[in-house]
Amino acid sequence: MAQYYIGIDFGGMSAKAGLFDAKAQLLAKDTVATSKDDAYMTTVAKMGQLVKKLCADNGVALKDVKRVGLASPGVIDGENGVVVRWGNYHWEDRPLAKDLSSAIGIEVRIVNDANAAAYGEYAFGAAKAYKNNILITLGTGVGSGIIIGGKLFEGTAGAGAEAGHMVIQVGGVPCGCGRRGCFEQYASASALIRDTKRAMFEDKESLLWKYAGGDPEKVDGKTAFDAAKAGDPAAQTVIKNYIMYLGEGIVNLVNIFRPEAVIVGGGVCNQGEYLLAPLRKYVAEKLYIGCDIVPLTINRAALGNDAGIYGALALAMD
Ligand SMILES: [Zn+2]
Repeated sequence: MAQYYIGIDFGGMSAKAGLFDAKAQLLAKDTVATSKDDAYMTTVAKMGQLVKKLCADNGVALKDVKRVGLASPGVIDGENGVVVRWGNYHWEDRPLAKDLSSAIGIEVRIVNDANAAAYGEYAFGAAKAYKNNILITLGTGVGSGIIIGGKLFEGTAGAGAEAGHMVIQVGGVPCGCGRRGCFEQYASASALIRDTKRAMFEDKESLLWKYAGGDPEKVDGKTAFDAAKAGDPAAQTVIKNYIMYLGEGIVNLVNIFRPEAVIVGGGVCNQGEYLLAPLRKYVAEKLYIGCDIVPLTINRAALGNDAGIYGALALAMD
């Protein structure tokens, strides 16, 4: 009897599911739209339908799926399968693993989405060789996942490993968490976009205007990199500062955990060495224990948008 696994990456706008065989080969993927306006049980039902459809479309019987892994936003108590809190959907103490399991008749394990991404990169992606590693995902916020000794470190009730809310500038930019100066207010793609726009308005001659098509609303995480590569001083300053803040956060994390590797994910890491080379240099210069004494690898993530489903898969296969 063939055995299958399913990894689901559930988010505010959609839930993506991947069907895998017992060798972790991806057989098929499917997606369903999700909404914060849906009742909790409607969301559960949508994910249940997604699993059923994915199996039916690929000729797999539900009873042949050994386990489902689910990556979810919010504070996740994986041991008890509970979403302790997720602000965006106003969820509190939702037994999501049990409820989804009831809907599909398959055991379900859940994990926080940022932690899932780290686990996915460790099990199948860029962090494979490193039993101690940290994934930093640069998106709307800064997601982080910490692997210690080959195990995900989630903190009590899954409430830890939130490196995005480590303050790197006391009294700095206000953050959604209520504090000021959090890492994600400086190192996220959103922060980069904000700082790119600011630089545009401060310098009407900047090439940033050209690369944004003359419209500040068209600025994205790539604009400042494009203009910087073309030699624009304002853009180069934006990138230099961005790498400084990203570097400071990474130095803090490395000083505490001293992982073998830091993996950087999110759209910004598509810049490759243009981002990573100066970042490595910055981090190496600031570490308490230098890289000459204890080596440190900084590389880009490998799984892209599929990191969540692969992380959920890794959890399901454990
Ligand atoms: Zn914060």
